Amino acid sequence: MTGPAATGPDGTGMGSTGTGSTGSTGSTGTAGTAGTAGTGPMLEVRDLHVQIASRRGLVRAVDGVSFEVVKGDALGIVGESGSGKSMTLRAILGVLPPEARVTSGQVLLDGQDLVPLRQTDLNRIRGPRMSMIFQEPMSALNPVMRVGPQIAEGPLIHLGIGRAKAAERALDLMRRVGIPDPERRYRAYPHEFSGGMRQRVMIAIALACEPEIILCDEPTTALDVTIQDQILRLLAGLCRETGVSLVFVTHDLPVVAQVCQQVAVMYGGQLVESGPVHEVLHDPRHPYTLGLVRSAPDFDNVRESLVPIPGSPPSLVSPPEGCRFHPRCKFAEEDCLVTVPPLKLLPGGRATACLHHERCIEALEAERAAP
Ligand code: ADP
Ligand code: MG
Repeated sequence: MTGPAATGPDGTGMGSTGTGSTGSTGSTGTAGTAGTAGTGPMLEVRDLHVQIASRRGLVRAVDGVSFEVVKGDALGIVGESGSGKSMTLRAILGVLPPEARVTSGQVLLDGQDLVPLRQTDLNRIRGPRMSMIFQEPMSALNPVMRVGPQIAEGPLIHLGIGRAKAAERALDLMRRVGIPDPERRYRAYPHEFSGGMRQRVMIAIALACEPEIILCDEPTTALDVTIQDQILRLLAGLCRETGVSLVFVTHDLPVVAQVCQQVAVMYGGQLVESGPVHEVLHDPRHPYTLGLVRSAPDFDNVRESLVPIPGSPPSLVSPPEGCRFHPRCKFAEEDCLVTVPPLKLLPGGRATACLHHERCIEALEAERAAP
């Protein structure tokens, strides 16, 4: 079933634009996410704007991003470095750096807007309802605290269980995330663990209070490939088992295809395409997604050579007028230089912010017809 805010009951939304106010700067539609659970969205981000004060000026790091995650689903967020993925996740969790702030928009967790909440209120949500796994576990772990107690801390604080029960729970989690010899490892410090084992600890901490949603920011990028695969399988398996929703930020398209049901593509602080993962990645409706797929190693084995996207991502202090991708887009026409493309809904719970998205179909058809 498709996301309720974006599409009609037949799952199509052809010709209509998404919900949300139409700002001058970006695509503001709500990307419909077709879920498997069939219930309302666990997380809904509406027209989120995050700005960062910097020496170069005001960075519009997140500029009108909307999406939703259905209960029990995994949404992947992909895009080149600097497209605003991390800032989006940090804004959702309320852990932006001091120089950044949410200037407008809503972050609805099961219907409750988190943006106006104070840190003390957010502390009651982070852990028991929503947790995050970062790229570099060493920076998220306390280096001078033993690993077991770090896992037990959340349940101790949030679940109202005693010290002994919390320790038992931590041991059980260590077992479930595949840390060998948990009784002994319970008393070890983070530096005594390998990178892969530290990331397992982070997963245990993220799961410890049985949250409704886990946000992952490139959780396996720092690990070598075989370990990456083990960790991803573990995470995906545990999420399926527990029914927890996932938002999964990565630049690794095969990983998204493996772990997520839905995908949102970000470019220059905006969402440019979204929909079911297989359809979007194998049959893109935005030239940027098409470029990403063609430049991704090991993704589409039909192609023989990788084609990098020419040019570089836009400045988020003074982004290009019109479509932000137009300077790098080979399909760009006159109107792309002046018109901000709205996120337009397509059949099948898909959405694209391209004025000429049918050019993608033509390009793919021509490619497939070629000998
Ligand atoms: P991603 O995670 O997609 O690589 P980010 O969300 O980290 O991108 O960054 C979005 C934009 O915000 C980028 O243009 C980046 O340069 C800028 N940015 C991130 N952190 C800061 C900061 N502390 N000060 C100024 N600009 C920043
Ligand atoms: Mg990032």
